[in-house]
Amino acid sequence: MEPGKFCQSCSMPVDKPELCGTEKDGSKSNEYCIYCYQNGAFINPDMKLDEMKVTVVTQMKKMNIADNIINMTVGSLPALKRWKV
Ligand SMILES: [Zn+2]
Repeated sequence: MEPGKFCQSCSMPVDKPELCGTEKDGSKSNEYCIYCYQNGAFINPDMKLDEMKVTVVTQMKKMNIADNIINMTVGSLPALKRWKV
């Protein structure tokens, strides 16, 4: 994944190469972060969009991020590649 992109599962900004997820062959994922995707598979393959929303809100609240930014981020989740139907 190139720096400045967002994870297509959790919407986290990936601004360092070490935050990129990994493919089976050890290369970097172009779409997902290391917290969502490792060795070519999602870490929580059965996770639903609603569960991801809760996870994102919990993480962002821990980081003291403003509510309006949290709402915006959560609102953008359904448009990400992992959740788009
Ligand atoms: Zn992610």
